Amino acid sequence: MDFFEATNCYFQEAARRMDLPANIEKLLVTPTRELQVQVSIERDNGEIETFIGYRVQHDDARGPMKGGLRYHPKVDLDEVRSLASLMTWKTAIVKVPFGGAKGGVVCDPRQYSERELNRLTRTFTDQIHDVIGPERDIPAPDVNTNAQVMAWMMDQYSKYHGHSPAVVTGKPLDLYGSAGREEATGRGVVLMCREALADLGLSIEGSDFVIQGFGNVGSWAAQILHRLGGRIIAVSDVGGGIHNPAGLDIDALRAHVAATGSVVGFADCSRIDNDSILLLECDVLIPAALGGVLTEDNAHEVRARLIVEGANSPTMPAADHVFREREIPVVPDILANAGGVTVSYFEWVQNNQQFTWTEERVNAELESIMVSSYRTVREIATTKKLPLRTAAFTLAIGRVGKATVLRGI
Ligand code: GLU
Repeated sequence: MDFFEATNCYFQEAARRMDLPANIEKLLVTPTRELQVQVSIERDNGEIETFIGYRVQHDDARGPMKGGLRYHPKVDLDEVRSLASLMTWKTAIVKVPFGGAKGGVVCDPRQYSERELNRLTRTFTDQIHDVIGPERDIPAPDVNTNAQVMAWMMDQYSKYHGHSPAVVTGKPLDLYGSAGREEATGRGVVLMCREALADLGLSIEGSDFVIQGFGNVGSWAAQILHRLGGRIIAVSDVGGGIHNPAGLDIDALRAHVAATGSVVGFADCSRIDNDSILLLECDVLIPAALGGVLTEDNAHEVRARLIVEGANSPTMPAADHVFREREIPVVPDILANAGGVTVSYFEWVQNNQQFTWTEERVNAELESIMVSSYRTVREIATTKKLPLRTAAFTLAIGRVGKATVLRGI
């Protein structure tokens, strides 16, 4: 099953329970616009290289479309389409006034110099600048993109449209970024761990966590959990994983990653690969890398009491089914990792207001939105006897559907 099919499978399960008319269901799953562009740049050695870039704009009933931009060799239209759709539901769950979109460029950014990535980002922006904008579609960082990439996008977009800080979020702090944005997705994941653990009668302190992925989401989640007294017993990145049942010193690990580029080789740990890490016994498993890692092949062997999806689409529907049968609760991506887009919204608000919020305010408002969104979803799950994912989709579809009908089709 491909990613867009998987997302639609979750969508449809909720839609059918809501008795959504078939025509509205079709309207809501169909992306508004799909753009594929050629991105040709000159390499540092003078050669020309051509990449394929995508921007899929899924839905704008609730506001300008919003979603990240990823650089990865496995990006394809199907994946971007699915991720754009997830953004529509994610923004609806946390009730920020945005729709959903996603972009990607098929490339392995590790193969390119900083100057080449600068040119790639600017050329991609040249190709899509007509369809994005502070009131149209607002990109943000995602897999392998960061604040620097957003700074280049903002600069390039502003050459066409005049000074436009609100065209992207996740910008550097020194260039219209928001305090707390970089760690926001990880912080939101931690809040979801706290809430879902409490429902199981557990707390972060004293629980064991396994985190697949040590990029922006995984590393911040690890750091915040560690500070709160959680035991991170294993983490991994593209190079492989490390395991220490006594718990990892995350501050020292971050220093090791900063020095060597990978978690691998950290002191006093055994090596573990990226597949086996998912099967370790723990209280909370946080997949925070790429999609499609939990499948029918490994779901039966997962030994976590709770799964909190830091990544987008880590769980395929067949695995989700297994977790339901095994009564392992899954806090779904569209809720669990919504902290990023929530603080993106705060950044956009600050850019529009030309007024800066303190980090305390950002974190407090993030916590309030994440916790109330979790409780609303859990309430639907409890009263309608649904898994959290179906409950989350139900909430999102209700909100997007209502906005669509109110606007008039
Ligand atoms: N890429 C992040 C996500 O998947 C953040 C998107 C945003 O801030 O617009 O939610």
